[in-house]
Amino acid sequence: MAQNVPYKIYLNESELPKQWYNLRADMKNKPAPLLNPGTGKPMKAEELEPVFCSELVKQELDNDTRFFDIPEEIFNFYKMYRPSPLVRAYFLEEKLGTPAKIYYKFEGNNTSGSHKLNSAIAQAYYAKKQGLKGVTTETGAGQWGTALSMACSFFDLDCKVFMVKVSYEQKPFRREVMRTYGASVTPSPSTETEVGRKILEAHPGTTGSLGCAISEAVEVAVKSEGYRYVLGSVLNQVLLHQSVIGLETKTALDKYGIKPDIIIGCAGGGSNLGGLIAPFMGEKLRGEADYRIIAVEPASCPSFTRGVYAYDFCDTGMVCPLAKMYTLGSDFIPSANHAGGLRYHGMSSILSQLYDDGLMEATSVKQTDVFEAAELFARVEGILPAPESSHAIRVAIDEALKCKETGEEKTIVFGLTGTGYFDMVAYEKFHDGQMSDYIPTDDELAAYRARLPKIG
Ligand SMILES: *Cc1c(COP(=O)(O)O)cnc(C)c1O
Repeated sequence: MAQNVPYKIYLNESELPKQWYNLRADMKNKPAPLLNPGTGKPMKAEELEPVFCSELVKQELDNDTRFFDIPEEIFNFYKMYRPSPLVRAYFLEEKLGTPAKIYYKFEGNNTSGSHKLNSAIAQAYYAKKQGLKGVTTETGAGQWGTALSMACSFFDLDCKVFMVKVSYEQKPFRREVMRTYGASVTPSPSTETEVGRKILEAHPGTTGSLGCAISEAVEVAVKSEGYRYVLGSVLNQVLLHQSVIGLETKTALDKYGIKPDIIIGCAGGGSNLGGLIAPFMGEKLRGEADYRIIAVEPASCPSFTRGVYAYDFCDTGMVCPLAKMYTLGSDFIPSANHAGGLRYHGMSSILSQLYDDGLMEATSVKQTDVFEAAELFARVEGILPAPESSHAIRVAIDEALKCKETGEEKTIVFGLTGTGYFDMVAYEKFHDGQMSDYIPTDDELAAYRARLPKIG
């Protein structure tokens, strides 16, 4: 193996990003504004401030400021686990016999096991700075709740997590990590909130959904003095914080004069992908460079590839503002056998606009193909990947295999968002041959779509 590029490219502390990059500043077509569901008008800062921290509202609404300084406290926290390595996947390339050069940015090297800590620490910092007592949130599989509970314990903030009931019951370990960091964890839907009680009445025995847990967390935040709601994906502010992933990646690649041809990321709500591609998409928007950018989503929750670009609720209880995004409908829940994460019904407004403008592609993959890629990757590269991340691995492998056919030496960069140690039940199903692929029919998707709010 010719190894002029090291297996891992690290950055020195002095090379770490000091600012987050706000991709919106370079977008000609800005992402559509959040709308007040009552008035149908764009949400103003003062309408968002009862729900979100003030500084984060500013970041959310700012489409023009290109860079935001990373406060020193956050920068210092980042130093505990950043830079994350950019790895040249020499062993994977060899295994595939591809002339492609594959790199992955690994975000799983922290206790929360994913990139979510990058935004959790920022959101906790601004809550603390505002003098709040605590924050509320939802979590699905538990990565976001884990990241947020770590961040809150660092800044001594109370952290109340509504965890989708099915995960609460099936993933006790993540729940206990959260409690280790001092968070309180409630299975959702719960009887603690009005919206939870309503949902339980309408759907007794429901195992919950992200959209439903969001509604509960927002309700508690709004009703509790000194509390705000925080969200781990989808929002503009989260993509802003996650730009640290892309900025580090770009600095590392530039050090070796490497220019990627294809950049791939998995897409749930769009935060890791939005962060990874930010500086590259910026160059593309400014006409300085061109890249193929691919979002990968599960075939069982295909927001980009089979959703519609429309205003929709971010939550099931319809208490949140409306966001214009690629969506399957706010009451969409992936089939029960879906084990690969990325189960949110919508998508970041920023990525939705970029996709609609033809600046990026999207593709969907079946979960058995995803786990096959995960297992191959674990065996050759050593890291046991999160099912979510493995969507990106799948497509990176597929693109590398295309290069094998054509002989092209393309450079592929993908985001390896986290580790899968808490997802072994899903791996078990795969190993036992009990994992099936369910792809929603057009009729099913049309039924959800018919319930979208009618805007404009
Ligand atoms: C949450 C999560 C994702 C998906 O969220 P995005 O906001 O789309 O990035 C992907 N991978 C891991 C490991 C996660 O925890």
